[in-house]
Amino acid sequence: MAFKQLKNFINGTFYEPHSKEYLNNFNPATGEIYSQIPSSGIDDINQAVKAAKMAFRSWSQTSPEKRGRLLIRIADMIEQNLDAFALAETEDTGKPIQLSRTVDIPRAAANFRFFGTAIQHFASESHAMVGQGINYTLRKPLGVVGCISPWNLPLYLFTWKIAPALAAGNCVVGKPSEVTPVTAFMLAEMCKNAGLPNGVLNIVHGSGPKAGQALVEHSDVKAISFTGGTQTGREIAQKAGQMLKKVSLELGGKNPNIIFADCDFDKMLTTTLRSSFRNQGQICLCGSRIFIERPIYERFKTEFTAKTFMLKVGDPLDEDSFMGSLVSENHLNKVLYYVNLAQEEGGKVLTGGKPVRLRGRCTKGWFMEPTIIEGLDNECRVNQEEIFGPVVTLIPFETEEEVLQMANDTEYGLSATVWTNDLTRAHRMSEQLEAGIVWVNTWMKRDLRTPFGGVKNSGVGREGGWEALRFFTEPKNVCIEY
Ligand code: NAD
Repeated sequence: MAFKQLKNFINGTFYEPHSKEYLNNFNPATGEIYSQIPSSGIDDINQAVKAAKMAFRSWSQTSPEKRGRLLIRIADMIEQNLDAFALAETEDTGKPIQLSRTVDIPRAAANFRFFGTAIQHFASESHAMVGQGINYTLRKPLGVVGCISPWNLPLYLFTWKIAPALAAGNCVVGKPSEVTPVTAFMLAEMCKNAGLPNGVLNIVHGSGPKAGQALVEHSDVKAISFTGGTQTGREIAQKAGQMLKKVSLELGGKNPNIIFADCDFDKMLTTTLRSSFRNQGQICLCGSRIFIERPIYERFKTEFTAKTFMLKVGDPLDEDSFMGSLVSENHLNKVLYYVNLAQEEGGKVLTGGKPVRLRGRCTKGWFMEPTIIEGLDNECRVNQEEIFGPVVTLIPFETEEEVLQMANDTEYGLSATVWTNDLTRAHRMSEQLEAGIVWVNTWMKRDLRTPFGGVKNSGVGREGGWEALRFFTEPKNVCIEY
């Protein structure tokens, strides 16, 4: 057997799924089976939740210093194994190795280190009632929590949930994406070696409708932290709502990238190449609708198209590949469907639009050209639905009011980018854009202390910094009369 067979990590031990059934997981750059993952269901989730519940008694009483030290040790171990993690992430997702090595894996380590230290500074409030008494707030961990993550930034987003949950004293049952499960499996081994007590972190693999749903529906799971598609988020919210369960939902986006004529053109152009096509456009924060102020529309179109045409789509293991493969055959077909739809809706493909056939080991991989489309209005489906691939549209605008109206005219509201050197306009736009995150003259610049999340159909709640630690704790007010 050339591929790995993964196991569930429950109570510090690796288990086969109760069903004894496995799902195939592919390396999308080669089209070959990369691993087989447990097809888990209710029985596996029950076993994991039971272990987490047992471990909670002692983990919730462990001091924040000790919990923090363990998380920092895990961060160190991820860094010590950077190359192995990066290779696994690239083979699982098809993303360029350079991206895994410099972004995905370092960020996973940073998540553990950040929350390992943050918990040691996390304080609660007191409210004095002059002459009468005092209130103080205790912040207690919730118990067993479920963390469900997507395939686009597998270890990065899985750890972004697990680290604050553990830091705050919860025990976790995690369900990584079945499309990209390998680095989560490696993380389980690392946590065991780091000395994380048994049952504190459990990782159950499997499909969303089986393993994910069983986790959401388990009555002993007190909260669900979910990142993924809006429709899945809606289903999870419905079930969790009926059970009065706390949820944090990080969902899809259709982010505007707004370019004014007075911007620093060169910096904007270089960054827009990244915000359009980095990770093959499979980042929830990618700016897929590019609005360009009319006076620079033609210049932008010419230079952006020329530079996009030159981007190297190649073997993700080649250091100089800017784009690797899309994550799966299904996903490639979905993105190609939208390119066809764009043409039916009257759009013109300026560059790209087709699958790429590579030679050598990647002949069967699911690669696609970076694609630019113009001539569509903001209301058409291609500009309203999330494509989540290397496809952007260009839309000219005349005035600030017009572009604000178009930028906000979508069901989503995750992030927005504004390019201008007019300071007043930058503040004015930032205030009026309907988005959880606004970047001015930059993109994807992240400070882990800031609130992260979306408005409208892009989500409910915020991750990051104190927001995450507040989500994973329950405040209790104690009132004492003098
Ligand atoms: P998805 O919704 O298909 O799956 C996400 C996770 O949910 C997977 O682990 C899946 O197994 C699980 N799942 C699926 N159905 C479930 C169910 N009924 N009950 C419980 N769990 C279930 O999303 P995806 O295709 O893996 O990821 C792409 C989506 O994620 C895009 O829409 C993207 O915008 C979004 N995303 C959002 C953010 C953010 O921070 N807002 C970040 C990354 C990705």
